[in-house]
Amino acid sequence: MVGDGDETFDYVVVGSGSAGSIVAARLGEDGRNSVCVIEAGGNDRSIWLKIPVGYAKSYYDPAVNWMYSTEPEPELGGRRIYTPRGKVQGGSGAINAMIFVRGAAGDFDGWRDAGNPGWGFADVLPHFKRMERHAGGASPWHGGDGPIGVTPMRGATHPITDAFLAACREIQLPETPDFNGAAIEGAGIYDVNTRRGLRSSAGAEYLRPALKRENVTIRRHARTTRILLDDEHRATGVEILQGGQRRTIRARCEVIVSAGAVETPKLLQLSGIGDGALLGRLGIAPRRHLPAVGANLQDHLCASLYYRSTVPTLNGPFSSLAGQAGLALRYILTRKGPFAISVNQAGGFFRGRPSEPRENLQLYFNPLSYRIPSDPGAGLKAEPYPGFLLAFNACRPTSRGRVEIASPDAEGAPRIRPNYLSTEEDRDEAVQGARLARRIMQAPALRAVTAEEMPPSAGVSTDDEILAYFRENCGSIYHLCGTAGMGPDPATSVVDARLRVHGIAGLRVVDASIFPTITAGNINAPTMMVAEKGAATILEDAAARQR
Ligand SMILES: Cc1cc2nc3c(=O)[nH]c(=O)nc-3n(C[C@H](O)[C@H](O)[C@H](O)COP(=O)(O)OP(=O)(O)OC[C@H]3O[C@@H](n4cnc5c(N)ncnc54)[C@H](O)[C@@H]3O)c2cc1C
Repeated sequence: MVGDGDETFDYVVVGSGSAGSIVAARLGEDGRNSVCVIEAGGNDRSIWLKIPVGYAKSYYDPAVNWMYSTEPEPELGGRRIYTPRGKVQGGSGAINAMIFVRGAAGDFDGWRDAGNPGWGFADVLPHFKRMERHAGGASPWHGGDGPIGVTPMRGATHPITDAFLAACREIQLPETPDFNGAAIEGAGIYDVNTRRGLRSSAGAEYLRPALKRENVTIRRHARTTRILLDDEHRATGVEILQGGQRRTIRARCEVIVSAGAVETPKLLQLSGIGDGALLGRLGIAPRRHLPAVGANLQDHLCASLYYRSTVPTLNGPFSSLAGQAGLALRYILTRKGPFAISVNQAGGFFRGRPSEPRENLQLYFNPLSYRIPSDPGAGLKAEPYPGFLLAFNACRPTSRGRVEIASPDAEGAPRIRPNYLSTEEDRDEAVQGARLARRIMQAPALRAVTAEEMPPSAGVSTDDEILAYFRENCGSIYHLCGTAGMGPDPATSVVDARLRVHGIAGLRVVDASIFPTITAGNINAPTMMVAEKGAATILEDAAARQR
């Protein structure tokens, strides 16, 4: 029954993040489909969401950020790990650090080989290219006229990053000119998704223009509380809560859930799609027993080594008001300089041991030393001395966690339990990461610019000490994924290779939740690829139905 204020569209997309923005824009592109996007957060007009350095502002801003924390983590001494998520048009892609890495070709071949036809690297490369407007133009590896601007930071980084690259060379680590080119392995300079010095996110580049068309609509500050299913297990729409009013938005064709790796499993569970035992305990009538909903949670966990430098770094200008004003003026006049790029400038993908079959560690070299305070009110602070930091994480951690609703209340936070470091391999790679970072720091080029290693890692040397330091100081780099994983078996996955929820018609998941396994590197680019491919699949299936 259609009630007062109820509306009907061809497609309803839940979430306007990195994936949802692309899905909505592509589905509405030819003007024939009506599309409604439901977004719990507000608009993305704030200047801090546009200028790259605004990252530091949105990191702890509840106006645009869900600001979750995990449950106490057993292997991390019971610490709760801060888990920011974008709650705004553009989602996490509107508040992230903009490092643009596709992942290793083998990661996607692994997805395909796990029973997901069409997801090998050769299959997904065209979707990566379709989204990309690379500053160097089109090439066999890059797209030249897609919506997302991709800018190599090469040539724009702080001079001390050259010392990092030289140090890697001195200890015979490989080097790569392009992490998104022929080889991901090696030291190099990161690309960022920016265009003319501004953040180039899916929300800004796909959704904002799409909303100018009459057939694409957004409902902001609207929380989806339930997916509506009919007696035949078909999704017919969603229930939303907006301005204190409960309303129904119906979908003639499909509902697409793109609420991200935390909220997507939560919404499925609230709708009776999930582990029957969990739903039963919470008094939610199960509609489809899918035990993998919320399971298979993966993330990259990293720690940093901090150094005091003998040469100036970005701490100079970043730690004084006058310095910041100078950088701001340069940015306003030229759209260039440190405010226009990321502080994660150099880094790379390496093998922690020669016996590793492929790159298993990712490093970030930041020409700025800053701490993330546990008190959100304190904000991110540059240290008052010239410094830099070297951060590291495992590329493909094997720990698996869960996201579970804690109650049937749609407004309550779910329980996030990543189970970080719960495997021997992950603990071993934490030690490998610190040892590799230290080896690079011992190379002459970096020794020449280093005054001393700073706490908390200074003086830490045995494997046991390194692991203890890692447990106490590590944090998420916010790459949560896998909680509605793709696969052929409903006992162990949530969606099939066409991203359809097993056993429910008219319902797909298209976001970072569908990753069967985490990719090497930062996951915004592969999430946007999933959305490009997901939208193309939805349109293909619709065309096939009409034939
Ligand atoms: C602080 C931070 C830094 C990061 N840095 C990088 C980086 O440098 N490089 C990189 O590659 N990746 C980075 N990431 C990760 C990357 O941004 C995310 O993995 C990616 O954006 C996830 O996209 P998504 O579409 O799955 O979810 P999201 O982009 O999170 O989108 C989900 C959207 O759904 C909305 N939503 C949720 N629930 C509901 C509901 N019930 N009703 C309505 N709307 C709802 C949310 O408000 C949000 O807008 C970072 C993430 C964060 C948080």
